[in-house]
Amino acid sequence: MRKPLIAANWKMYKIPAEATAFIGAFLPLVASQEKTEIVLCPSMTSLAVSLEATKGTQVHIGAQTMDWHDNGAFTGETSPVMLNAIDVTHVLIGHSERRQYFNETDETVNHKLKAALAHKLVPIVCVGEHKADRESGRTNDVLKKQLTVGLQGIDPAAAAPLVIAYEPVWAIGTGLTATPQIAEDAHKFIRAQIAEILSPAIAASTRILYGGSVKPDNAASLCCLENIDGALVGGASLDPTSFAQIIANSSI
Ligand code: PEP
Repeated sequence: MRKPLIAANWKMYKIPAEATAFIGAFLPLVASQEKTEIVLCPSMTSLAVSLEATKGTQVHIGAQTMDWHDNGAFTGETSPVMLNAIDVTHVLIGHSERRQYFNETDETVNHKLKAALAHKLVPIVCVGEHKADRESGRTNDVLKKQLTVGLQGIDPAAAAPLVIAYEPVWAIGTGLTATPQIAEDAHKFIRAQIAEILSPAIAASTRILYGGSVKPDNAASLCCLENIDGALVGGASLDPTSFAQIIANSSI
């Protein structure tokens, strides 16, 4: 019922020529992967070439962030209208690096989520606890707050495209991964929160991705549990073979 989604977050890597070369090598490796929604999120300067290189294929292109205004005096920002105009389909919202280095908060996540839904972009909203939160038993409190504020005022009737990425901050780029049980428990909790905040029907259809040091050799154990509907992959998505392998191993 929930189509698996695997997204690559290239962060601030790959100039346009590198993005094009990646896609040239990657497309033949995933040509038969029709069951999984595949999304590549390049940096802003590689969006155009990535869209061109994936035209007519099943691979979607997403942005790593966006502003929530349609336009205006917001130097350096990119709006949902601009993403729509070049056929970007997905957008990451509230990645922990955006929260840590660019002052994003649950409130800005909420503004961006509303804008993404209004402009028919598929929002991938990132949530997750820090190491200290987990060690002090506060994981569920943190997730609850991120979701309560992040999803505040969203009309359940318009929320169907919503995707959540559970990314424990201590597992991002560290080589540490959540155990399948830790991930499944967090995803189950997130789904229950969505049921409370939006509706049980939306909770049942919302895809919840796991992110945090997903690699080809741990993808199968992390991607295929009851409440886990795919992955958001950073480091291991930079290499076409490794990312294609993650997709193949997750679809078993
Ligand atoms: C990410 O950036 O969203 C991420 C999960 O990174 P990594 O896979 O490198 O931990």
